[in-house]
Amino acid sequence: MQPVGVVGIIGCVLLGRNGGKDLKMRAEIISIGTELLLGEIVDTNTPFLANQLSSLGIDLYFTSAVGDNSARLAGVFRQAWQRSDLIITTGGLGPTQDDITRDAIAGLLGEKPEVNEELKQHIVNFFARRGLEMPLSNIRQATLIPSAVALPNPQGTAPGWWVEKEGRIIAAMPGPPGEMQFMWQNEVFPRLQKRTGAIILSRMVKTFGVSEAKVDELLADLTSSTNPTLATYAKLDGIYLRIAAKAERPEEAQEMISRREADVRAIMGDAVWGVDDETQEGIVGQLLVAKGLTLAVAESFTGGFMTHTLASVPESQRYFKGGLIATSDEVKVALGLEPNLVTGKASAEIATAMAVLARRKLDASIGIGIEGESSPEAVSGMVPGTVFIAIDSEQIKLHQVQSYSGRLYQMRRRAAYYALLDLMKLLRAM
Ligand code: AMP
Ligand code: MG
Repeated sequence: MQPVGVVGIIGCVLLGRNGGKDLKMRAEIISIGTELLLGEIVDTNTPFLANQLSSLGIDLYFTSAVGDNSARLAGVFRQAWQRSDLIITTGGLGPTQDDITRDAIAGLLGEKPEVNEELKQHIVNFFARRGLEMPLSNIRQATLIPSAVALPNPQGTAPGWWVEKEGRIIAAMPGPPGEMQFMWQNEVFPRLQKRTGAIILSRMVKTFGVSEAKVDELLADLTSSTNPTLATYAKLDGIYLRIAAKAERPEEAQEMISRREADVRAIMGDAVWGVDDETQEGIVGQLLVAKGLTLAVAESFTGGFMTHTLASVPESQRYFKGGLIATSDEVKVALGLEPNLVTGKASAEIATAMAVLARRKLDASIGIGIEGESSPEAVSGMVPGTVFIAIDSEQIKLHQVQSYSGRLYQMRRRAAYYALLDLMKLLRAM
């Protein structure tokens, strides 16, 4: 979940603790809860926040997990206060005795928690709406120290704390991920944005068919730049390239991104298939609609993933006639393939016959056939395999052979994306 619109405004320049001098903001995340240390729950808050901080351009230097123990929590806070400008915590804001984050912060700053009437009323109302009486222990959640303001938590009872003192910030949020993310997006993120003089915008450029190592090599000159930055992410539908630019105004950042995107496209050529939220299946759908064409699929090897992917697009019924899914030679014959073609060995002929079959049986203007096989010899889980992709229409007769290795489920998915990319290229050229 990204905060709306722009990726954010960076907090890299913060009025420092020493008399308003600019200071680079060093952030630290502390997740609090004994259950985290017992391995009972996985800490998902830290990766969420780490990702968000990076999109804000804030440097994260440390993360730690600590149990519900006063002395150890106090120690972690003291250390964080020494070395960080921004301390973000999650957990330990509940009503029970083991929820001690508020007390730890108060102790750290030498301040005394006091009940805040407004907060108390919010919690009383929360229980009243559910026809319950507020347990006395919940009063703990209605306390504040002088340096803290409350961060509202409409999703639960525990308000967060936003603390500013001596040039540092502590943002304490509840542990439940839904509550934490809501508070982050509505309270903490916007406050961090305000401290900044710059904005970061980003754009994801999506490629397919070039390996990550090759992409790295091709773009080496661009990935070493610090503004705009260029980072690569390997996904099942290809290598994504995130361009992020930092500037004082959005127009400037946009301009920097556009220039860098042009550089990337010049190098990557038609391996680039889309940007940002675009998906291959979505783009294929738009192209089919624009050209008044329909599509049907017959797939083996991919086990229905192609059909699933295409059918997942809203309103795909307008152009997607459906999929025939074969999981064995018997099924291929039952679907209507010539029995003498089905020999137990994958081939381009079978893929082509499946493309034709799909088109005819499902009355579509374009048919895709996918067939493939993987070798039984896996090396550390990686399997070499070969995929045959055929596309058939009145104007187009194409078949492609792709050989690559990967984990089986990756290969199946990649095969479907290869087919979609081939179709996309053909449709764009039509
Ligand atoms: P607390 O705010 O400490 O009472 O946490 C309440 C609940 O939030 C825990 O029982 C977990 O289910 C969840 N939770 C707390 N911390 C985390 C975390 N770091 N990651 C994911 N879930 C968490
Ligand atoms: Mg807890």
